[in-house]
Amino acid sequence: MAHIRQGDTVVVTKGREVGKRGKVKRVYRKAGRVEIENVMMVQRHTRPSQKNPQGGIMEKEGTVALPNVAVVCETCDRGVRSKAVVSEAGKKQRACVRCGTEISTPAAS
Ligand SMILES: [Zn+2]
Repeated sequence: MAHIRQGDTVVVTKGREVGKRGKVKRVYRKAGRVEIENVMMVQRHTRPSQKNPQGGIMEKEGTVALPNVAVVCETCDRGVRSKAVVSEAGKKQRACVRCGTEISTPAAS
């Protein structure tokens, strides 16, 4: 299982959405699932609310199990496993196991 973080670009490796890529919107550590932009869309039947006075059916991202996604390495242009490396500055980084390119960690937002 890779170290997936919010803001990562990931690819789905298993299940209904295999091959789809997107940016991680949220990581649910405890549940071991991630929410990915425009992946695993599900229909939510919602009641009318202030935000959505009409109610009705809304499309929304569902979650994907963490073991079923892989970080995309920009150099390899595919989903890869990442390994932990320590950079010169002594910071922990993730790197692609295939080509060694560091996988940039998006600034936490
Ligand atoms: Zn790579």
